[in-house]
Amino acid sequence: MVIIKTSREIKLLREAGRVAARALKLAGEAVEPGVTTKEIDSVVRKYIESQGAEPSFLGYGGFPASSCISVNNVVIHGIPSKKCVLEKGDIVSVDVGACLEGFHGDNAWTYPCGDVSSQAQNLLDTTRESLFEAIKTAKVGFRIGDIGSTVQKYVEARGYSVVRKFVGHGVGAKLHEDPAVPNYGEAGRGMRLSEGMVIAIEPMINLGSEDVKVLSDGWTTVTADGKLSAHFEKTIAITEGDPIILTDPD
Ligand code: MG
Repeated sequence: MVIIKTSREIKLLREAGRVAARALKLAGEAVEPGVTTKEIDSVVRKYIESQGAEPSFLGYGGFPASSCISVNNVVIHGIPSKKCVLEKGDIVSVDVGACLEGFHGDNAWTYPCGDVSSQAQNLLDTTRESLFEAIKTAKVGFRIGDIGSTVQKYVEARGYSVVRKFVGHGVGAKLHEDPAVPNYGEAGRGMRLSEGMVIAIEPMINLGSEDVKVLSDGWTTVTADGKLSAHFEKTIAITEGDPIILTDPD
C-alpha cells in the first residue's frame, strides 16, 4: 500500500534527507587511496549521530554497519571492512540512510577513487545522468513505468545493462515502502504518480551483463561477470510541479 505524505511529513522527510545527503557528501570526501571502507563508515555514523539522527541501515535486517560501501564489481550492500583498503582507480558506491524524528532519507552516489579509467568514468557519468533524467518524469501525470523506462533506455542506448534483481522503493516512516520503483519498464504503464508520494529512485547499472549474485555473507551483491557496477540514488517527493529532491545537502 502506498502511503501518501502530508506536507508536514514531507518537511520532516526533507530534514532526514538533508542529514542523509550531508553524511553521503562527507563519505565522498573521505574516499581516497589507502582509506578503508570501515573508516568511511565511521565518518557516516558520526555525522548522522551528531545530528540527533540514527543510521537507517544499522541493524536493518541484521546489517552490521551504517552505510553500504560497494567497490568496483560490488553492485550494492557491500559491508564496510577494515580489510577493504581503497586503491587509486576504484569506483566506490556509498549508500546512506538516516532516520530523524521517525522519517527516513535514503541516497547513494558512486565516487571515483583518484583517477579512474575512462571506461569507469563513462559508467559513472551515464548512471548519474540516467537518475537525473528519470527524476524529470517523477511528477504527477507520469507513471512508475515512465521512470524505469527512462533509466533503461538511457543506459541501454550507451551499451550498459540495468540490474533487475533490486529496485527503488517508497520511503517514509519505513526505509522501504511501496511502491517498487524498477529501473526498467514500459513508458505509460504501472501505477500513476500522485502528489505526496515519496520514492527513492536508484539505478544500479552494470558495464557487462545484468546478472548479479549474493555472496555467502548474505549481503554483498556482485556482478556475475566480475565487471564494474555503479549506483546513484535520490529520495524525491512527487508534486504537480517539479519533483522535490529530499536528499539534497543544501
Ligand atoms: Mg534505497
